[in-house]
Amino acid sequence: MQMKNTQVMNRRNWLVACVAAVMLGCGGGIAPEGDGTGDGNGSASAGDGGKLKVTATVNMVGDLVRQVGGEHVEVTELMGPGVDPHLYQATQADLSKLRKADVILYVGMHLEGKIQDTLEKMNGQGRKHSVSVTKDIDKTTLLKDPEAAEYPDPHIWFEVPLWAQTVDVVVETLSKADPANKADYEKKGAAAKDKMTALQTWVTDTIKNLPEEKRILVTSHDAYSYFGRAYGFKVVGLQGISTVSEAGLADRTKLVDFIKEQKVKAIFVETSVSPEAIKAIASDAGVVIGGELFSDAMGKLGQIEHGNDVGTYEGMIKHNVSTIVNALK
Ligand SMILES: [Zn+2]
Repeated sequence: MQMKNTQVMNRRNWLVACVAAVMLGCGGGIAPEGDGTGDGNGSASAGDGGKLKVTATVNMVGDLVRQVGGEHVEVTELMGPGVDPHLYQATQADLSKLRKADVILYVGMHLEGKIQDTLEKMNGQGRKHSVSVTKDIDKTTLLKDPEAAEYPDPHIWFEVPLWAQTVDVVVETLSKADPANKADYEKKGAAAKDKMTALQTWVTDTIKNLPEEKRILVTSHDAYSYFGRAYGFKVVGLQGISTVSEAGLADRTKLVDFIKEQKVKAIFVETSVSPEAIKAIASDAGVVIGGELFSDAMGKLGQIEHGNDVGTYEGMIKHNVSTIVNALK
């Protein structure tokens, strides 16, 4: 996504816009670090005994592919832990990974703003499938980026039932590329959706421990609007939906005032965004950093934090929710 002048000018009104947008939406929506070493010949079939080579952009998508693809796929991720997809530019090595893949899966909706065109163009090259996992999402359920009305907010993985809608696209895409294992992809896809249903129950039960008036989430960037809508939080991000721009001084002052007025106990840094601005605000507002949240990147597969493997989608969501509830209650 290109930075727009209007976006810069509008940033002045960010606080009003963010709070308003989230409040409108509030109120009960329901709704490895792996580097593929295969050097395939681009054959889009696992029928030769090899595994289907799948390249995912961010690790939330990599997790989906591991769940649905299981032993039939070899997953490569372009962006590891701590990497910001809004700013991400592909290297030559990445382009090579993309070219070698049988299947490419990405979030889309301009999350991977600087490489989305490349991803789209790769679809249909040779026998390659390059597909956005959000392509079939019910568009009426999407939130807008308040500062770029033409784009939806891409951070849908924080509303678990919405992210569950992406599973069918993964099943469909892997099945097209590897029809021999279609039945297994369908079975594993159904299991993945069941897991997300259970996760949604866990999240709503855990959040019940936090009184409604304490559900205010202040973070670096607006990655949590869907989370706010789904679970009843007011969400304020210092930067807009994308991390392309820096927060201005006026924004910081407003945020400090807001935190004091609302008696917010803690604010949060994100693993994929520089923490300096949020740390300065915490100091000015006299509040603590409540912990580090995963936003646009998960942790490393096998990295256990308080009993959760934050390299998995389920573990990442549980880590965030526990961190938020414990710090704010
Ligand atoms: Zn983001």
